[in-house]
Parts: sequence; structure tokens; C-alpha cells
Amino acid sequence: MTQTATLGAVLRADAMLVPGEDGSPFRVIAPAECVIDDEGRIAYAGPPRDTSRPTHELTGQVLMPGLVNGHTHSAMTLMRGVSDDEGFMPWLAAVQGVEQGMTRDDVVAGVELAMLEMIATGTTAFADMYHWDAGLLRLVSDAGMRVFAAPACLGAEVVGFPGVSFSTGTEVLDETEALAEQFAGDPRIRLGYGPHAPYTCAPELLRDIRDRALRTGIPVQIHVSESAAEVADITDRYGATPGRHLAALGLFDAEVLAAHCVHLTAGEITTFADHGAAISHNPVSNLKLGCGIAPLPAFLDAGVRLALGTDSVASNNSLDLFEEIKTATILHRGVHQDAAIVRGSDVLDIATRRGAAAIGFPDAGAVEVGRFADVITLDISGAAQAPFTAERLVSHLAFAASGRDVRHVFIGGRHVYADGDYLTLDAAGILARARASAARLRATA
Ligand SMILES: [Zn+2]
Repeated sequence: MTQTATLGAVLRADAMLVPGEDGSPFRVIAPAECVIDDEGRIAYAGPPRDTSRPTHELTGQVLMPGLVNGHTHSAMTLMRGVSDDEGFMPWLAAVQGVEQGMTRDDVVAGVELAMLEMIATGTTAFADMYHWDAGLLRLVSDAGMRVFAAPACLGAEVVGFPGVSFSTGTEVLDETEALAEQFAGDPRIRLGYGPHAPYTCAPELLRDIRDRALRTGIPVQIHVSESAAEVADITDRYGATPGRHLAALGLFDAEVLAAHCVHLTAGEITTFADHGAAISHNPVSNLKLGCGIAPLPAFLDAGVRLALGTDSVASNNSLDLFEEIKTATILHRGVHQDAAIVRGSDVLDIATRRGAAAIGFPDAGAVEVGRFADVITLDISGAAQAPFTAERLVSHLAFAASGRDVRHVFIGGRHVYADGDYLTLDAAGILARARASAARLRATA
């Protein structure tokens, strides 16, 4: 690990993805220059200028906004490959079996491992629901990443994180508010209430969260309508589908980021759009667990605020958002037998600018003057990228690129990843700790 500060850099690349004009999400500048000011924001994004001297000459690379993961549980990276083929309920039981033995050190190891993978594959910001405390949030901030973190809140009758924290229900909400106050001045850290799901949180708890959110302004993360079994269970218990149930409790009066929404009805989608509630679309996890396919085209038509997420590695098994971008683009084409129904440029937009806004970092997500310099570069010099032409940059990023192509990552102007080297994380130490934690958890599960 080498510490190199890099605010105030001039980056030159073969091509660059910037916000488009006339309703198109993107346009391409080639060749291109991106200047980062001393505050870590973008001071210039355009063609190379004679007057500036590049600090990074990124030949054979393209520059784009950092990717935004709209839904994950980073500590669960330790559970890569747990219950791959059994489906949602057995998978959940297997995961909870591992969580019984988890200590706080394991959570640290999982979060650090996730950051290694996210940074190396071009993710600069993420929304995460798990056990979060001040020390874990400082780890993310010190690594330079942005996180919208929601300490998971489950009803007292539901198993939580016994090895990590005995807090349930309102205790977690009090802790969330204290953390929000503590990190209020950190532009990388944003707190949310994290009611796990309507099937693990009683109506009284959800109503309490809604009242607190209106009072404090703290947003909410929650899983909604992930499986048909959940919809049947909630309808059975409360006489309403999950979206209707949450709407009746007034939850959408707060700022909400809902994960999955695989089985929303048309009326529920309208409710989300009307209230400005955001959805994280996580197609790979939904496919892998056999939960179904969320109606992304209907979300787009209704104007729902959207992010793209991997969900945890336990159900993906990768944090590479490029894989998610391609899947989200082509999946719905197959379902609807219509190749025009979802455009790659729209999904790229959801994975960057729209996703950043949806998880509460509206100053990130695009290569544009004044925004945070959360930018990544990808190699375009190899066989998998040839023949590369700048006018096909969006096509390349949506359909051909991989997280393995990522060469450099800057977050808030800070250089955190350079040609395979982590500049803010001790990769060897993290890998050793993560392997040790995973081995111990396997032995005790
Ligand atoms: Zn989840």
C-alpha cells in the first residue's frame, strides 16, 4: 500500500463518457481531458487543452464515471458460494446459519474484502444494509469510498446478528441516528434506517421508523417484494401486498430506497413513482435465487428513481457491476422479445448518474464540471476490446466491458487504485484476514 494524494490532477484518456444533450444520457469526447481541482471536484471535462500538463497520461484507456452499487451487503462477501443451487428460503437459512457464528472481526474482514473487489471493478459508491458501526464507517471513509449505510433492523422476534450485536428494533434506530449525527460532515458517509423487510419487521416498528424519518430526515433502506413467497406471506398476514402494506403504514412519506421489487403490481409501481421512492434493480441475484425478474421496463416507463445493484456476493457471486449492466440490459429484451425495450445507455445511466442520485450522492455519478471526481478508467488496448472506436464507447461499456478492464479509480479526486495497486487499502493483509475469517466460519457453521 502506497499513499499518494492526487487532488489537483489532469487526466488524459483516449475517450471519455460525459452527460449527453437532447435527452440522450451520454455523449463521447475523444480524445479527452478531465481536470480535478484541489477540492476533489471536476474542474474541466472536454478536449485536451494546450495549456495543461497531464499528471496521468492514460493512453489506451477510456474514462467514465465510477459505478454505483444500489444494493449490497458487503460483509457477506465472506459467504461467496454458500448455498448456490437451493433457492431463496434454503439459501436464507444457510446464510443465517453462517451469521450465527459471525463476530465483528468477521464483519470487518467482509467489508474490507468487498471494498477490494468493488474498487478493482470500478465501483466508487454503494448502498449497504448490514451491521454498521462507527469503526466500520471509518474504514470505508479511510479507503475513500462512498457508502449509504443502513444498520439492519429486525424485529426482536427475528434472529439478528448474535455474534456481532444483540441490538434489535428501536436500539438499532437510536444507534443509526447517533451515527448520522457523528458522520454528518463526511461527504462519503450517509446513514439510513435499515428495516430489513416487511416480513421481518412488525407494522409497529415500520411505523416508528416512518415517524422518526419524518422527524430526522434520515432515509430508509428496505427489501420489498423479493420473492412470490414474501408477497403471499404479507398478503396473508396483513391483507395487502408488500408495497400496499408499506404505503398504508406511510413509509413512502419518508425517502425510501427499496431493493428488488420483483413482484410489484402496476399500482404499486405508480405509488413508488408518485412518492419518489427509489428502487435498486438487482437482476443477477433475483435470477440466481430463482426469485423472478423485476419489471425494469415498467419502472422506466413510470419514471421511478432507479439504481442498479449486485445484492450480496452470497447471492450473486460477484460485485462486478459491468456484469450487472449487461444482464439488466439484455434480460428484459428476452422476456419481452423486444430488443428496443431497454437501451444499454439507460442502464449505464442507472449504474452511474441515476444510481448516485437514488442512493443520495447527487454530486457524484457523472463526469461533469462541479461534480465529485469519482471517475474510473478502463483498458481498451486488448483483444477483448478490439476493434475499439470512440463512437461505440457506450456499446463497449454496456455489452463488452468487464470489471477486469478497470485500470484506475479516483474517488473525490483521490487516487485509490492504480494499475492493480490499491493506494488506500492493504490488499495482502485484507485477503489473509478474510480467508481466515471464512475458514473459521465454515468450521463453525
Ligand atoms: Zn439484500
